Amino acid sequence: MTAETLVFDPKIINRFDVNGPRYTSYPTADRFVESFCADSCAHWLANRSAGSERQPLSLYFHIPFCNTICYYCACNKIITKDHGRSAKYLKYLARELALQSSFLAEGDNEVAQLHWGGGTPTFLSHDEMRQLMAATRQHFRLVDDGEYSIEVDPRKVDHATVKLLGELGFNRMSIGVQDFDERVQQAINRIQSEAETLAVINDARANGFKSISVDLIYGLPRQSVSGFARTLDRVVAASPDRLSIYNYAHLPSLFKPQRRILESDMPSADERLQILSMAINKLTDAGYVFIGMDHFAKPDDELAIAQREKRLHRNFQGYSTHSDCDMMSFGISSISKVGPSYYQNVKTLDEYYELLDRGEIPVYRGIALDADDILRRAVIQSLMCHFELSFESIENAYGVDFASYFATELDALQEMVQGGLLRIEAARIVVLPPGRMLVRAISMVFDKRLRADRESKRYSKVI
Ligand code: SF4
Repeated sequence: MTAETLVFDPKIINRFDVNGPRYTSYPTADRFVESFCADSCAHWLANRSAGSERQPLSLYFHIPFCNTICYYCACNKIITKDHGRSAKYLKYLARELALQSSFLAEGDNEVAQLHWGGGTPTFLSHDEMRQLMAATRQHFRLVDDGEYSIEVDPRKVDHATVKLLGELGFNRMSIGVQDFDERVQQAINRIQSEAETLAVINDARANGFKSISVDLIYGLPRQSVSGFARTLDRVVAASPDRLSIYNYAHLPSLFKPQRRILESDMPSADERLQILSMAINKLTDAGYVFIGMDHFAKPDDELAIAQREKRLHRNFQGYSTHSDCDMMSFGISSISKVGPSYYQNVKTLDEYYELLDRGEIPVYRGIALDADDILRRAVIQSLMCHFELSFESIENAYGVDFASYFATELDALQEMVQGGLLRIEAARIVVLPPGRMLVRAISMVFDKRLRADRESKRYSKVI
């Protein structure tokens, strides 16, 4: 997508900006229920193995530890410098790997995608990284051309770490930067030099990483249009394959570390929009393609290619080229997607250790999707990944008459049609350039569960 196919119109953004989920799953995690138990997980894992046309797996590992706290953080993490804690955690991760994989049939162990997220995965020592990958390979076979990615904090890695990650099989890296502006870095308690970030990018290239992604955040305290423009210039000069520009949602009542951010340092709503507008212009001018939500990629990156070829998917890591893999996840708070089910692990170390000591999958909630959920998930995926929705493809796959099944939704979309966000044609919905930044607001119209009680839900702002 080029600059002319993404239009940033502050008036439209202001008018249609609503609170909404990011749709890394549908139904969203807040709809999971606690009656979904370890037996339900075991059932869906075995059921997957019994299927005749199963896809390879995607694996996710949550490493929750961080050395220091970033004040903006809303992740599930544990701040510690005590490596004894990660040593114990790794032992239990290995147990969980053995336990969850024991429900799969022999031979159902092929993995095409793996991701270590956090927290800070690079909190682990070299030995611990080797140990976790060895435990993984004990139960699963990582295919040769798979997508194996890790989130890296440049403050925590040196040449030897990046080299080791390459040797362990990682070939994709996402690097947290947020902002190079020192004033911003002080306000968020994340001091990270440009030099150490560039060194990691160069090391990753030298060690065969195929795709390097840089994560930035807009809307941070003390951020300005000119300061963030300088950050973007420096990041673009480093030429990452992908860039994410996340919106900082300042919700100090929900996230305690954010209380250390001064309200007086926060950019105004108008400044935030100007920062975002500048960022989009800079990235599209530099040749990056808007993938959707907060993601940009070079035109020859596999995400951009997958989007052109309509093979793009969305999962808990965001956009993905891997078609609808089942995802098995390990570690506290991680979410799995197996067949028509999602399930999430407990959020604290104590509960995690206790359940694994009892020999139980450490799950605390989940959901088995019904036919309506599966249909709506496909609709939302199509809008989020392709900015269009073919009625025929939905009708053929799910045996419904689109116009009558979604009569309420088509009616509810009329305001967005009038506002220039999308067009409803005889056979499809097309999200127009001004609507692409608001694709999750459009997707929300198809979220039946949200429609039922959206008033009582709290989500970060769409933009
Ligand atoms: S932003 Fe990342 S590194 Fe910082 S505290 Fe949160 S999880 Fe840890």
